[in-house]
Amino acid sequence: MKILVIEDEPKIARALKMSLEQENYTVDVCLNSDDGYSMASTEEYDAMIVDRMLPGKFDGISIVKNIRSANIHTPVLLLTALGTTTDKTVGLDSGADDYLVKPFSIDELLARIRALLRRPKNQQSNTLHANGVSLNRLEKTVFVKDQIISLTNKEYSILEYLLRNKNRILTKDNIISNVWNYNADVSLNTVEANIKTLRSKLDKPFNANAIETVRGFGYRIRDSQ
Ligand code: CA
Repeated sequence: MKILVIEDEPKIARALKMSLEQENYTVDVCLNSDDGYSMASTEEYDAMIVDRMLPGKFDGISIVKNIRSANIHTPVLLLTALGTTTDKTVGLDSGADDYLVKPFSIDELLARIRALLRRPKNQQSNTLHANGVSLNRLEKTVFVKDQIISLTNKEYSILEYLLRNKNRILTKDNIISNVWNYNADVSLNTVEANIKTLRSKLDKPFNANAIETVRGFGYRIRDSQ
């Protein structure tokens, strides 16, 4: 899952990125509203965390209003130092899905992000299955035939992306833009190398092919093969 953080206080931005990455999310950070707005409107995210007061052309509220009027429905958690009821109402009326007042605890923020990601728009249960592989998104665990499989963060994120889009062919470029952050310098070979190790972990113990290669296109995981 990929999250955009738009937050101008470098310390908070860094702490958010670190905590979210520990939970296996892929994170892009923008420190001003112009970059934030352009990333929010051009890149694909599963959720966004947007600070309300930002330097640049937009504040958090206008970023949310603008992306909503451009028909982008990504769940947004708005952060702010202000905490009165009116401010909350303005935040939610702008199209944000939730509102968190600074200072907040990271645990609460993570819980709210999980809640946003569970909403019907992203309607996916906490457990994803296909072709003998199951992945629990809350526990970050992967099982093949009841045996737990230990994966690196990137292998896990690739598998989760394939499972969320099961039966669809995903290109290496799709995988790069959904699993790595915007500034990462990733080659197609890196994707291939990660798929290779992921496969060897999933397939070797069971003599099965969990992930299919669709020559000339990309990869797919199907309900069954
Ligand atoms: Ca701020």
